[in-house]
Order: sequence, then C-alpha cells, then structure tokens
Amino acid sequence: MNIVRTIRKNKLLAIVILAYIILLITSPQKAKGSVGNSMYYVIEMIQIMPVIFILTSLIEAWVPRETIIKGFGEGSGIRGSILSFLLGSFSAGPLYAAFPICKMLLQKGASISNIIIILSSWAVVKVPMLANEAKFLGPKFMGMRWILTTVSIFAMAYITSIMVKKKDIPAIEKKRDGETLTVQKEYCIGCGICIELAPEYFELKNGKAGIIETMDAIKTSEEVDKAIKKCPTNAIEFR
Ligand code: SF4
Repeated sequence: MNIVRTIRKNKLLAIVILAYIILLITSPQKAKGSVGNSMYYVIEMIQIMPVIFILTSLIEAWVPRETIIKGFGEGSGIRGSILSFLLGSFSAGPLYAAFPICKMLLQKGASISNIIIILSSWAVVKVPMLANEAKFLGPKFMGMRWILTTVSIFAMAYITSIMVKKKDIPAIEKKRDGETLTVQKEYCIGCGICIELAPEYFELKNGKAGIIETMDAIKTSEEVDKAIKKCPTNAIEFR
C-alpha cells in the first residue's frame, strides 16, 4: 500500500520512470542517450540547488516580512515592478533556481504580478547575455527584442494577477500541523476584515486584531482560512 501511496504522490516522476522503462525495452540505444542527457541536468541541479536553498533560507530568516511586502507586495506599485524586473534581469543561473526563491517571496507577501515579472525577466532578460546577443545578432535586433519582451512581461504580469489569485497557488498554503493561530500585531492595520469573516476567532482591541479563541492548525475552520487569505498585510498565520 505504501508503494501505491508513494506513486500517487509522485505521479510525474512515476510517469517519467515508466517512459524510461518502455524506451529501454523498445529502443535501448535511445534510452542510453536519454539517460545521458538527464544525468547532465541532474548533475547541474545538484551543483546549483544547494546554494539556492541556502540563499533562500538566509533571505527567509534575515529579511523581515515587512520589507518583502514593502518591496514586492500588492501596494509596492511601479517601484515594486521595477525592483522585480531588476532582480530577475541581474540574476544568474537557470530558471529553475528562481522557483524556490519566488515561492519564499510569495509566502512572505510578494504579489503575484511581481513574481511573474521576476520569473519572466529571469528567463528572458538576462543583462549579462544582452552584450552577447548584440554581438551575434546585432544591436538593433537585441534592442527591439528587449523592448518588446519587457512590454510583454509587464502585460503578462498584469493579466496573470487578474486571473490567478494567491489562494490558487498550493505552494503558499500556510504550514499547518502542530501550529497555533496568531496575529502579528506589528503588521495588523486594524482594517477589521478578519473580524467580519471569522467573528468567533478574532476581535479588535486598541485598533489591532487579536485572537479570541486559540485554535490548533489542524482544527482550522473555513472562516479562519478566508481571514488568512483576505488579510491585506498577511498578518494572520499559524505558528
Ligand atoms: S485582516 Fe489583517 S490587517 Fe485587518 S484587522 Fe485582521 S489581522 Fe489586522
């Protein structure tokens, strides 16, 4: 039963392994070449990902949530978009290295549109590569491509932020088991949304929300979930 559960949890990996087995049986030569290519990327990931995970953990531990919200959050406006564009454009390394960083930024309050800008500029506007592009394809080609790509990135960020909401992203689900509902007073702006949505659990005191009934992460209710998602400053969480 354990093996079935493991396969269900790792469907994509199971499909890839199955494809390799079929290829090995039907065309062993192609399977050999394919394993060689895959190993190249696995080795590359082994070299890069530990550094990315350490970097992500350091940013997570040292950079306060407030700073991330100010820099990349919903209210960061054009400044946040430019900052995100610069972060993505001056980054180094393959795109998959950006995913754990973006997940951490989302969890700390960055907006969807800024995450799109970081990922897209990371993928296609690498500043160190622009000189190479101009050398091989000419400055006019590079300039036009850069302008059109940049415009498209901002348009994509705007459209995606309308169509995709944070609640649609499982990666930013709050951690659960064994944690207790908390309001971080320093981020609460006293808007009252949480009290409106879950009056049995939240109250307003001296202009800040507080918890009436302590609740365990595993006993969470729909109202509390809604309050967590709707809080404009991400002040409510399970800790
Ligand atoms: S929704 Fe968030 S900011 Fe508004 S009162 Fe509740 S905790 Fe404070």
